[in-house]
Amino acid sequence: MLTQIPIQINYIYACNENTSLSGEVNVTAFTRLQEVLDITNDEQGIVAYQLTFGIDNNGIFFLQGMLSTTVTLLCQRCLQDMQKVIASRFLFALLRSEKESLAISDEYEAFWVDEESEQKEMLNVFAIIEDELLLSLPFIAKHDKACQPLLEKMDMEVKEQPKENPFAVLAKLKTP
Ligand SMILES: [Zn+2]
Repeated sequence: MLTQIPIQINYIYACNENTSLSGEVNVTAFTRLQEVLDITNDEQGIVAYQLTFGIDNNGIFFLQGMLSTTVTLLCQRCLQDMQKVIASRFLFALLRSEKESLAISDEYEAFWVDEESEQKEMLNVFAIIEDELLLSLPFIAKHDKACQPLLEKMDMEVKEQPKENPFAVLAKLKTP
């Protein structure tokens, strides 16, 4: 079942309460992510997320997260769609002071909470998830194994999309 990710969450409260959030959202909910995906293919996947807030033995507020999804990217070698499975884990120490940053163990990634903001106890969970997904994408998308032969695929496309200008198809064939 699809759920909504809260945009803002009071992390002080969430950490104190050991709050867990989990659910599934459509990839299309993430507009920044969508810009880098190949969305001509509307078979975009579902993002499953699990977040846990807490306070560790040293009094450090933390946010632990797990994300998984499959996205469609454009392979930069053959310029065809490719599926990429993304599985990401993160563990943030929600830092408010220099002192705290010195107290955290190596397993944490530092995440500075914006103390200047008017709503300084609020964390934009949605943006954090989207940032993590963006960071998990390959720098250059390429099929893991060999790319599909281009000619074969082009034949299929011509059959499937009779309206496509045949000269445009030829032009595509010429691109390396
Ligand atoms: Zn490829």
